[in-house]
Amino acid sequence: MLAYRHAFHAGNHGDVLKHVLLVATLRHLNTKDKPYWVIDTHAGAGGYALDMGYAQHRREFEGGIAKLWMREDLPPLLADYVARVRDFDAAHRGAGAVSAGGRHPAQYPGSPELIRALLREQDRGRLFELHPTDHEILAAHFSGDRRFRVANADGYDALKAVLPPPPRRALVLMDPPYEIKTDYAHVLEALKEGLRRFAQGSFMVWIPHLERREPTLLVERLCRLPVTDWLLASLVVAEPQEGGFGMTGSHVFMVNPPWTLRAQLERELPVLARLLGTFPGARCHIDGRSA
Ligand code: SAM
Repeated sequence: MLAYRHAFHAGNHGDVLKHVLLVATLRHLNTKDKPYWVIDTHAGAGGYALDMGYAQHRREFEGGIAKLWMREDLPPLLADYVARVRDFDAAHRGAGAVSAGGRHPAQYPGSPELIRALLREQDRGRLFELHPTDHEILAAHFSGDRRFRVANADGYDALKAVLPPPPRRALVLMDPPYEIKTDYAHVLEALKEGLRRFAQGSFMVWIPHLERREPTLLVERLCRLPVTDWLLASLVVAEPQEGGFGMTGSHVFMVNPPWTLRAQLERELPVLARLLGTFPGARCHIDGRSA
């Protein structure tokens, strides 16, 4: 049933978009001393080896982080994200790690490790992962960190228990695999429920860009939610393969995004589309509303 393993996809263009926005949002939360929680409903294993194992099957990171990895000319949000990946790689790569002559990191941080990199002493992380093996890896890596709790539980259900969080300041990241079609409906319902419980919270949902109806419909429904502050960042980097297969890009939808984010993305997302794009139609799109 749970066939999806994020290690196959770690560091791909979808991760890049999501993790750039995640780092930027955490930076914004850190501009105030007041504590916050980060709730990662679909946390994955935490971090991934790119130079061996599952990531080597399709080497998806070559279309993602590898294209930014060596660059020293990136604009601020992209540079901050790459710096966090470099920190993680430096701290976790084995002495003998090979990374194609340094053309990509040997180790890539998943959302939990990016959260850990920016979380302060007063903040808390709540990580949910359903796959038993990925949960075990995640739990082992976070066991000594008292700021975090890791649970082998359904992230959609867990939201009901953790919202609203005690500090009344939080970011919820929802990043399901979408391997089963029900994820499209679940994520929308979970977001609505989350907003009922915690309307002032920040919510971030990642959605793949596919030649299929379900993701398009989900994005349309998210943009019609009765919320005053939302932001949609979309990136298309590739043409579909024959038969319409393949993930050609992705979207991040946010409710209550940092107020600075839209302007930052308007400057930097075109750069990302140019760097990750593999065809002349590569593009980005930003939409949203703010009170
Ligand atoms: N957020 C991670 C990151 O950015 O590094 C990647 C997460 S991956 C896209 C989705 C994860 O959700 C997988 O590890 C999968 O096992 C897990 N998963 C699937 N259904 C779940 C559920 N209902 N609750 C919690 N985790 C789930």
